[in-house]
Amino acid sequence: MVSVNDWQELLTVGTENEHIKISGKEKKNGEWVFKRTVNGASLEHGYPREGNEVTGWDNALRLLDGSPLSSLQLLKADPLIYPYLGAYMLTSKNIGEELLLAWSDKVLTGKNKDMVMAARWLLGSERTVILSGAGMSTESNIPDFRSSSGWWKQIDPRTVATVEALDSHYDLFQEFYATRMKALNQIEPHEGHRILAKWEENDLVQLIGTQNVDGLHFAAGSLNVQELHGSIRSIRCHDCGKEGSTEAFTSHETCSLCGGRWRPDVVLFGEMLPQEAWETTLEAIEHANLVIVIGTSMEVYPANQLPAMTSGKTVYINAETAETGAGFDLVIEGKAKKTLQNINELIEIGRRR
Ligand SMILES: [Zn+2]
Repeated sequence: MVSVNDWQELLTVGTENEHIKISGKEKKNGEWVFKRTVNGASLEHGYPREGNEVTGWDNALRLLDGSPLSSLQLLKADPLIYPYLGAYMLTSKNIGEELLLAWSDKVLTGKNKDMVMAARWLLGSERTVILSGAGMSTESNIPDFRSSSGWWKQIDPRTVATVEALDSHYDLFQEFYATRMKALNQIEPHEGHRILAKWEENDLVQLIGTQNVDGLHFAAGSLNVQELHGSIRSIRCHDCGKEGSTEAFTSHETCSLCGGRWRPDVVLFGEMLPQEAWETTLEAIEHANLVIVIGTSMEVYPANQLPAMTSGKTVYINAETAETGAGFDLVIEGKAKKTLQNINELIEIGRRR
């Protein structure tokens, strides 16, 4: 049992011959004071042997900054310092990525190293772009029409989501989208969507480009979302472009201006992609320090070209990555929600600094 008046060794890094030790002492009022002691010949030159006492855990870890040690093995760490050390490791430029990974098993217990690296990059990035695809929405139970039972099982959506269907089989087209719109009423964004919205609010994410038409990123609170394939939640007249309502579309009305057919503002097979959304996303990617691709199989052109257009780091998160993860700096195989939750736990640790 250590008395409150004793200095406790909290952290020792270096080698057996040369090391830096940070000790702390809890005062009667509960406040901690810290000091650094060093041991080793080279440390006695050019690196203050005894620093002044400092208060605050973050300041305690700053006592490591500028260390001339060539090897910073983690020799000893008291669990008391883990949360602060975790934050320091995830955010301080004084701790390189190699050291981060070397220390993470001990300090960030139970955290996957890929997630640790993703969190570190995200915390250190000034401009981050998220690209999301269908795998982002499946955990919100967006129905997969191709595999669901019933009438739609007989029909491949790719034969309905076309300009040809709109022109020649409007009843079928209308029913297909009306069914999808009704299904969307029951659907809510999941925790992963909310985490991305929070990251934007905290200035960790600057833009989301999504291939999804379900509007779930907006529903979760994200503001700067570019819908690369349009949105099923907005309706326009196919002939004159007038804006309409979902009610008008689902109740078989025609355009009040020209009598034309209402349609969702999604990109149908055979149509151009929305130029402004693409250009905005492309420009953000070109200037990004980090691009995180979530839940897309990377098979669809041109979305699959986007990550290659950045000079920043690239992360790929998908349930299956074996054949599609090539070319990324970091590949994390996992579902979107759980992976984002895991990374977010580390972000929360890093943001304690
Ligand atoms: Zn019209």
